[in-house]
Amino acid sequence: MASTDRKVNGLKRHPSCLNESYEEQRKAFLSDEDKLHLFDDLTKVNPVTTATVLKCLQARYATEVFYTNAGCTLVAVNPFQSIFYLYSPELMREYHLASRPRELKPHIFTEAEQAYRNVQSHIEPVNQSIIVSGESGAGKTWTSRCLMKFYATIAAANSSSQMDNDTVARIEKRVLDSNPVMEAFGNACTLRNNNSSRFGKYIQLQLDGAQLLTGASVQTYLLEKTRVTHQAHCERNFHIFYQITKGASKEERREWNLPERADFSWLPNSERNLEEDSFEITKDAMLHLGIDSSMQSNIFKILSGLLYMGNIQFSDSEDESQPCDLQENAKDFIKTTTSLLGVSEEELLEKLKVRTITAGKQQVFKKPCSRAECGMRRDCVAKVIYARLFDWLVAVINRSICADSSEWTNFIGLLDVYGFESFPVNNLEQLCINYANEKLQQHFVAHYLKAQQEEYAAEGLAWSFISYQDNQCCVDLIEGSPSSIFSLLNEECRLNRSSSASQFQARLEKALSSNPCISRDKFSKTPHFIVSHYAGRVNYHIEDMVEKNKDPIPTELIQLLQDSKDYLLQQLFPVEKEQPNNKTPNRAAVVTVVSKFKGSLDRLMHILNSTTPHYIRCIKPNMDCQAMTFKKEEVLSQLEACGIVETINISAAGFPIRMPFQNFMERYQLLRKPQPSRSEQELYINSCAFKNKKGLGDTVENADTLRRVAHEILENLVPEQSAV
Ligand code: ATP
Ligand code: MG
Repeated sequence: MASTDRKVNGLKRHPSCLNESYEEQRKAFLSDEDKLHLFDDLTKVNPVTTATVLKCLQARYATEVFYTNAGCTLVAVNPFQSIFYLYSPELMREYHLASRPRELKPHIFTEAEQAYRNVQSHIEPVNQSIIVSGESGAGKTWTSRCLMKFYATIAAANSSSQMDNDTVARIEKRVLDSNPVMEAFGNACTLRNNNSSRFGKYIQLQLDGAQLLTGASVQTYLLEKTRVTHQAHCERNFHIFYQITKGASKEERREWNLPERADFSWLPNSERNLEEDSFEITKDAMLHLGIDSSMQSNIFKILSGLLYMGNIQFSDSEDESQPCDLQENAKDFIKTTTSLLGVSEEELLEKLKVRTITAGKQQVFKKPCSRAECGMRRDCVAKVIYARLFDWLVAVINRSICADSSEWTNFIGLLDVYGFESFPVNNLEQLCINYANEKLQQHFVAHYLKAQQEEYAAEGLAWSFISYQDNQCCVDLIEGSPSSIFSLLNEECRLNRSSSASQFQARLEKALSSNPCISRDKFSKTPHFIVSHYAGRVNYHIEDMVEKNKDPIPTELIQLLQDSKDYLLQQLFPVEKEQPNNKTPNRAAVVTVVSKFKGSLDRLMHILNSTTPHYIRCIKPNMDCQAMTFKKEEVLSQLEACGIVETINISAAGFPIRMPFQNFMERYQLLRKPQPSRSEQELYINSCAFKNKKGLGDTVENADTLRRVAHEILENLVPEQSAV
């Protein structure tokens, strides 16, 4: 072949590397495309580059192999079709009973079983975490559910006596029943996933000394409560609203005031029939979790009240000094809302329309609200009720499934959180989500490097890398002290000054200019900042960010709910005890969204750091959720976003080529017979080193190291060479 500059496997190769016989050798060994699907570990594909990794994943997907290792990570490509044998109890048992599960095909059960055995091994840290990540629709929740079923199955199989079996079955059922309930209240149909989780979840499965499942506890993160009042075009509200409006019996409809085909503005796209609309499954699961039918009825009555609240519309007032009016048809809606929520009709109306401003200790002013403000206050009431209801439900689930501390000794935690997000418009929600992903990536890198060092040590390789650049700089930018995006946002909330988005942008730029991870688009007029995340650059809009961080709930609206006659609302909004000396809450102690989120994430990281982690990266092979369709560009951007490309880069920072001795011998046989000249050997070594350097786009040290190692090997292989 005469070409001097061409691409092989997507890599541009230098002309000096092109050696006909080498090329043939290389083809035979490396580019045997028929065999690419046989690679069970992406970091062992030679050379390990994004291009080869993609090819390998694609080849495996085409042969219906959906799981592949990537070092200490498992990559799971969503099949988008039900493959029963893959998740059958028989297969679970096969992985569980295998003497070496790692020798079976890569699978989520390998990770699950490994975690289970680690608990038994008594090697610290004994507690385990399985961190499932990926973008929306990639299969995180599906995977977490399968993992829970795996443990429920094998823990039941482990129990010896009949009594044990019954107890385990009961606990296992309750633990599994937490899924449909949490999904009904926390999941929704979005453009990207018909069953998208709108909250993050960490569930700890509690095991006793005999490795039996004795209970579980759930922690949730950042419920997307705005969905109650705002649904993007073609998206839906939380499943539970559709479940009650579609599935209620005649009697229930009367009780909750829900006639068939009632029209609710917060219930778009209800004509679609989704599997997730099954009300019976939710009610059954709630019952198993100890929420009896009268309490269930109370919950659904409140939800119905929220739906009516969404229909309360205001009209502009002609005189600005006067509160705006209700739209004509809204009068009935407010009546139904207040009767369902057990609050006074006059008071709700008054508090939605008039704002109370407290100045100093004594002075109280009343200010009529504009139409837009009235709408915001209505939304605020609905969101706070739903958010507290969700937290209450999680607490009830925990009370039902959590074992007494004396009944369990260890746990396996499953983390199912939103993946990295970058939309055309990003705001505080994306900043929090991407910050969580940065922290998880940092945790992953630390763990991965440690695992690599251990692997080298086991192989007897003396190796002291790694000058790998981690993402500390980005983490500092977001949460560090004394100045960071979070600290500046909190300061704005604390000072409660009215500043524009551009003023805040200027403050950010001044305080954080020395951090290389923040920048801005000089041509954009919208106040924004760009953060260079490990997974890519994200442009965050500043407008509303400070307000979102405050997440203010007017006290008079909370008081209204505290005065409700409804039993459940009284639980959700307890009257707080008077502060001693009539102290007003300290302004400095304002709990903002980011400080709350950072607190819960710190606690999560603390737990994760005390466990042995296992990583499952879920990949969505196409955006249309089609079976057997693998779109390379879409997979590549996810490999970047979920850190697999980083894994590849880190592998490249160590020994990029890991070859079993037998394969090495086969490949380098030509160096022995016929005996090559010293210059031919040099050329060959250099070409390997060069290819490695080019292919991985990495540092010169790699190439030098490879050259040195190859030399050492060569010396041993060809002892006569000194005579050449
Ligand atoms: P989100 O972040 O939006 O919650 P997710 O990552 O949790 O998304 P899932 O809800 O788990 O995504 O998966 C989306 C859909 O993909 C599922 O409803 C299911 O139809 C399909 N799916 C996921 N994993 C599998 C699998 N292993 N086998 C078959 N289908 C799957
Ligand atoms: Mg999910």
